[in-house]
Amino acid sequence: MLVLGGGPAGTWAAVSAAERGARVVLADKGFCGTSGSTAAAGTGVWYVDPTPTDREASMASREKLGGYLQDRRWMVRTLDLTFQQSNRLAEWGYPYPVDDHGKSQRNSLQGPEYMRLMRKRTKQAGVTVLDHSPALELLLDEAGAVAGASGLRRQKQDRWTVRAKAVVIATGGCAFLSKTLGSNVLTGDGYLMAAEAGAEFSSMEFSNPYAISPAFGSVTKTLFYGWANFTYEDGSWCCIQRRSFRDCPSPASGGRSMRGSTRPTRTSSCTCGPRNRISSCPSTAPESIRSRIVFRLRCDWKAPCVAPAAFASSTRPAQPPSPGSMPPEMRRRAN
Ligand SMILES: Cc1cc2nc3c(=O)[nH]c(=O)nc-3n(C[C@H](O)[C@H](O)[C@H](O)COP(=O)(O)OP(=O)(O)OC[C@H]3O[C@@H](n4cnc5c(N)ncnc54)[C@H](O)[C@@H]3O)c2cc1C
Repeated sequence: MLVLGGGPAGTWAAVSAAERGARVVLADKGFCGTSGSTAAAGTGVWYVDPTPTDREASMASREKLGGYLQDRRWMVRTLDLTFQQSNRLAEWGYPYPVDDHGKSQRNSLQGPEYMRLMRKRTKQAGVTVLDHSPALELLLDEAGAVAGASGLRRQKQDRWTVRAKAVVIATGGCAFLSKTLGSNVLTGDGYLMAAEAGAEFSSMEFSNPYAISPAFGSVTKTLFYGWANFTYEDGSWCCIQRRSFRDCPSPASGGRSMRGSTRPTRTSSCTCGPRNRISSCPSTAPESIRSRIVFRLRCDWKAPCVAPAAFASSTRPAQPPSPGSMPPEMRRRAN
C-alpha cells in the first residue's frame, strides 16, 4: 500500500495497514511528523466517554453548532474511532495531562508531541517513510485504476515511483493562502492528482473555512474572536459574539463591512471558562488579547447579520454594553 502524506490521516492509515500485514510506503512532501497543519498546532479532540447519554448530548450539541448538516453515522464512527485511537496514544506513551482528580484529560493534543509519536509508531510498524518526497502524479493501470504514484526525492534530486494495489491520498487540504502555521505545504496536490485520475469529489463545499485573523497574524485561530465584539463601519453593533452571527434576526445586509475588536464584553477578573466565556482581559493576558485589535471583514453572506433591535439604532458605545442591558438571549451568551 502507498500512503501519500504523513499528517495524522496518513500516519494512522499507514500504521493500521502495516498492523494488518500490508507492506506500506509513506511519502511525505516535508519531514513526516513535522509537516502539515496538526504538527504545528494544538488540536482539540472530540473525546467523549462511550456512555449513551454523554454521546447523545455531545452529538446534539455539535449538530446545533453545525446547523444540522451532519450525518449521524459519521459522527458515531468519528466518536468511536477517536475514543479508541486516543486511548491507544495513551498506551503508546502520549503525555496526557491529568485533572485535579487524577483523571487523564484526552480532549486535546499538542501537535508537535503527537506527530513526533506518530512518526515513531509509523516507523516501528515497519512502514518505509520517504521524507521530502512530494508525490506529483498517480499511476494508472490499463483499466484506468490507480496503481501507484510517482514523485520527487528532493534531497537526492531524483524521482521515486511506487506501484501499489492501494493508494491512500492524505495530503491535507488546500490552505496555503491562509498563511497559517503548518499550512504552507497544503497546496491541494492530492485533490489535483485525484481529479486528474478522474475521481469524483463530494462535500467540497465544506473544505475551506478560512478563519478570522488579523492581517498581520500568522496564526488564524478564531478562538480569540469568540469574545470579540463586532460593529459595522457606522459603529452600530453587529453582533456581540462570533457565534451569534447566524442568529441575528434583522434584514439582510450582504456586503456590508464590519469591524471587530477583541475588547472584552466585561471587565471583571478573568474567568478562563469554556470557549466564548472568557470575559475579561487581565494584565497577565497576552498582549494580543489585551490590546484592542481592530480588523475588518466583509459580511458577504446573504443571511441577516445586523444588531438586534436593542442595539440597532445605537452608535458604537464607548464601552461595550453590560450583560444586564442585553436582551435575554444575548445575555445568556455573554455570561
Ligand atoms: C489553525 C488550525 C487549527 C486547527 N484546529 C483543530 C482542532 O482543534 N481539532 C481538529 O481536529 N482539527 C484542527 N485543525 C484541522 C487539522 O489540523 C486537520 O484537519 C488535520 O491536520 C488534517 O490532517 P491530515 O493528515 O489530513 O493533513 P495534514 O496534517 O495537513 O498533513 C498533510 C500532509 O501531507 C503532506 N503533503 C502535502 N502534499 C503532498 C504531496 N504532494 N506528496 C506527499 N505529501 C504531501 C504534507 O507535507 C503533510 O505532512 C486545525 C487546523 C488549523 C489550520
